[in-house]
Amino acid sequence: MKQNKKRATPEEYLEAFHASQERRKAQAQACYRGHRDARLTYQKEYRETHPRKDYAKECPDAKEAVLTHYGNGKLACVRCGEARLPCLTISGNNKRRGQGLYMWLKKYKYPEGYQTLCMNCQFIKKSAIST
Ligand SMILES: [Zn+2]
Repeated sequence: MKQNKKRATPEEYLEAFHASQERRKAQAQACYRGHRDARLTYQKEYRETHPRKDYAKECPDAKEAVLTHYGNGKLACVRCGEARLPCLTISGNNKRRGQGLYMWLKKYKYPEGYQTLCMNCQFIKKSAIST
C-alpha cells in the first residue's frame, strides 16, 4: 500500500539536515574523546619510530651545488643574475620541493629540464605560462 507522505518544505528539509549534522558532530566528538589518549600515544610513538628527515643536516651543501649546476656554473639566476642565495630556487617540472628536491637532483646526477631562477623570475615565468 502506498503511503501518502507529505513532501517536506525547504525549511523542514533544512531543519532535518542541520539536526543530522549536529548528531554526526556529537558522534565524532564522543568518538574522539573515547579514543583521544590512544590516538595521541600512537602518534607520539609513530613520530619517535619514524622521525622526519632533516635533509639540510644530511647534505648541507646540496642546495648551493644544485643551484650552481643549474645556474650554468654560477650561483645566480640565469635570467637576471640575482645572486642572493635565499632568493634563488630551482625551476622545473617536479612535485618535490625544498631540500628534498636538491637532494633528489644531486642523487640523480642533475637531470635535464631544470634551471636556477630567482623568485621574481620564477613568478614571471609561471604567470607567462598560466596566461
Ligand atoms: Zn631572476
